[in-house]
Amino acid sequence: MKRFIYADNAATTKLSDTVLESMMPYLKEEFGNPSSLYELGSRAKTAIERSREQVADALGALPREIYFTSGGSESDNWAIFGAANAMRQKGKTHIISTKIEHHAVLHALEALEKQGFEVTYLDVPGDGIVRTEDFERAITDKTGFATIMYANNEIGTIQPIPEIGKICRDRGIIFHTDAVQAVGNLHINVKEQNIDLLSLSAHKFHGPKGVGALYIRSGVRIPNYIYGGAQERGRRAGTENTAGIVGLGTAITEAVASIDKKAEYLTKLRDYIIGGVLKNIQRSRLNGHPVKRLPGNINFSFEGIEGESLLLLLDQKGICASSGSACTSGSLDPSHVLLSIGLPHEIAHGSLRLTLGEDNTFEDADYILSVLPPIVQRLRDMSPLWEKIKNEN
Ligand SMILES: *Cc1c(COP(=O)(O)O)cnc(C)c1O
Repeated sequence: MKRFIYADNAATTKLSDTVLESMMPYLKEEFGNPSSLYELGSRAKTAIERSREQVADALGALPREIYFTSGGSESDNWAIFGAANAMRQKGKTHIISTKIEHHAVLHALEALEKQGFEVTYLDVPGDGIVRTEDFERAITDKTGFATIMYANNEIGTIQPIPEIGKICRDRGIIFHTDAVQAVGNLHINVKEQNIDLLSLSAHKFHGPKGVGALYIRSGVRIPNYIYGGAQERGRRAGTENTAGIVGLGTAITEAVASIDKKAEYLTKLRDYIIGGVLKNIQRSRLNGHPVKRLPGNINFSFEGIEGESLLLLLDQKGICASSGSACTSGSLDPSHVLLSIGLPHEIAHGSLRLTLGEDNTFEDADYILSVLPPIVQRLRDMSPLWEKIKNEN
């Protein structure tokens, strides 16, 4: 019996029905330009401002600190290039980040290095969690900016954001966090957690694709991002994606309201699958911290196999999973995150990420537990690498 199981919620999530319903009017009859002065336009404007309040409420921010963007990547780019520009005005040239950031952050930082900035990419130990001592030690009198992700998209590990935020606030360092994986899964309060800049993306919590937001704490001055009209207080020009923004507001409100219930359920489901796999598949390991990880995140390595072939066989069984981040699949390089936490190349290659959502059931889990071990076995039977591992032991 073939089923369909979507277990790739870190790549994207399914649009929720209520989110779609809230968006529909703005794709049809409420099509006005939010900048227009007549009633049709101002109704769209009102809807956008309602969404801004919803996003602000979800983060413990003020509505005027929320700027809508096209998603997580744009928010990361605005935060990083903006903060770099602001720090340079103060004669600061050093940035601190980690080796396990999303490519939207890493590639932006690499571009800054070409412009003469110096970037320290912190190592993370095997459990995938940045140490605040390492962070503190990396600070120099040239440090003006730090960007550390809230939760990792591959191994789900949750970083000590409030503590790092506090250090930055005390030292006058602008602090950005890519919270794309965290929003809707973890409780976030930008004021209590000392966050200056925060990126989020609607499609990671059952909202539409192509819309996100950047929180910019009032008092933190970074340059405007897109020049043009006066939208987003003149800071990010372009006619607003009204329907998307309305969807974002609905999605974040829904997601934040159910964080605790969802976390309790997903943690049980996650640990059930982890326990079953580690027990039934020899030479398998769980990557990342056993508990300080996103409730729905599972990341395994199986010695002696190729992650890509594993994904194809799982797909034949109706299971959507990933071997790392969607952005790296297609390339044969193993995940930079798995290499950073110390996995050797050949083991990092045989990795599997399952990211669960509320729609996944314990029947799904049992199905995964029944099909995965024979697939791993089949691949190992064909693998020269596995032959070698077996003979060495
Ligand atoms: C998905 C993701 C992004 C990119 O967000 P988009 O909205 O797809 O541009 C950035 N950072 C992390 C951690 C992500 O998981």
